[in-house]
Amino acid sequence: MLAQDSESGEVTTDLIDVGNGISDADYAEKDVRNKLVLAAQQPEAVARIAVEKHGAAGIISYAQNQHQAWWGENENLLRWGHLGTFAAKPAFAFMITLKQACAFQQRLAAGEHILLHANIIAGKTNGAYQIVTAVIPGGDPVLKDQEIVFSCHLDHPRPGANDNASGCATILEIARSYAKLIVEKKIERPARTLRFVWPPEIEGTLAFLTARDDIRKRIKSAIHLDMVGGGPETKSVFHITRGPASRPSFVYDVADYFGKLVNRETALFAGTGSAAFPLNSPDGGKEPLRAELAHFSMGSDREIYTESSFGIPAIYFNDRPDRYIHTNFEALNFVDGRRTVHEIRDLLSGAYGPVPEDMIQEYFTALESIGVIRKRWYPTIDLAKID
Ligand SMILES: [Zn+2]
Repeated sequence: MLAQDSESGEVTTDLIDVGNGISDADYAEKDVRNKLVLAAQQPEAVARIAVEKHGAAGIISYAQNQHQAWWGENENLLRWGHLGTFAAKPAFAFMITLKQACAFQQRLAAGEHILLHANIIAGKTNGAYQIVTAVIPGGDPVLKDQEIVFSCHLDHPRPGANDNASGCATILEIARSYAKLIVEKKIERPARTLRFVWPPEIEGTLAFLTARDDIRKRIKSAIHLDMVGGGPETKSVFHITRGPASRPSFVYDVADYFGKLVNRETALFAGTGSAAFPLNSPDGGKEPLRAELAHFSMGSDREIYTESSFGIPAIYFNDRPDRYIHTNFEALNFVDGRRTVHEIRDLLSGAYGPVPEDMIQEYFTALESIGVIRKRWYPTIDLAKID
């Protein structure tokens, strides 16, 4: 697999094993000029020495996944890699599995010359961010000018089922569910406008909030989903993450409240077969959601929303760790759709704001209308209009 930011090139040359490939010692007594280097680290770091200092033609990297408890255990993982976007000297790199790398190393150690042919057609051109957004207009004549954003990120060098097709698909499903329920008059149109955004990660959100000041000023809160399809296979724990303590908001307390509610009710249902709000659906799982209510941490687009330039409170939903993140194993068969059902319900509960009294009633109206809460709980909800 070609690494991100590779440049065009064609070469037929020897492969040289340089170990990690990121220190001068790795190149001692090795002539890598115009050769391909086999390296254990990410191409960007390897290129600074192999290409820029020693004139290597290109890089074959078997960089392993992000460090976690399962690091290096699976020899068939193929991680996506990258070179420096603004590197001093253009280069190309391929990513291979640990299994392929070990096979090359055994042959090289036995004294064999391995001649490889590489032919790359790649490059960079100027472009523009295209950011898809959709809105469900609010119904209140005044409050409709305020927006609640559902966010995700659409891009990645290699598309990943969990990171982040799961987040993109989930907010699409939330939008679809809301729109359908409003059209069918099963729920009231929300007071505030709901906006759904599918941007490139980080830079896309930054560009969006900067270029569209008119929209940015209307956003009162964001709900960001990045990796919401984890499960037992990926070893993940679902997190509902608050914003920074330096920018307090009641929005985080609402998220905390609903996280605890879903944890408690799904555990009760899983353990006893009944609960006031079982929060499952006929095609969903019956297992409990054990969301961790987490303090702020950096990463993904929600840090752009909460950053003081914009100062928008943003709740962050994510499944971590993921032993397959950014690899070829990040595939649909490891994504837990049943978990996502819970998360959709959980997210729907966070869509309205920012007046807590109104919000809680509206939340439950929405939840009940899609059949996830079967009993009246909040005393002022009018169930008559819900079938
Ligand atoms: Zn992501």
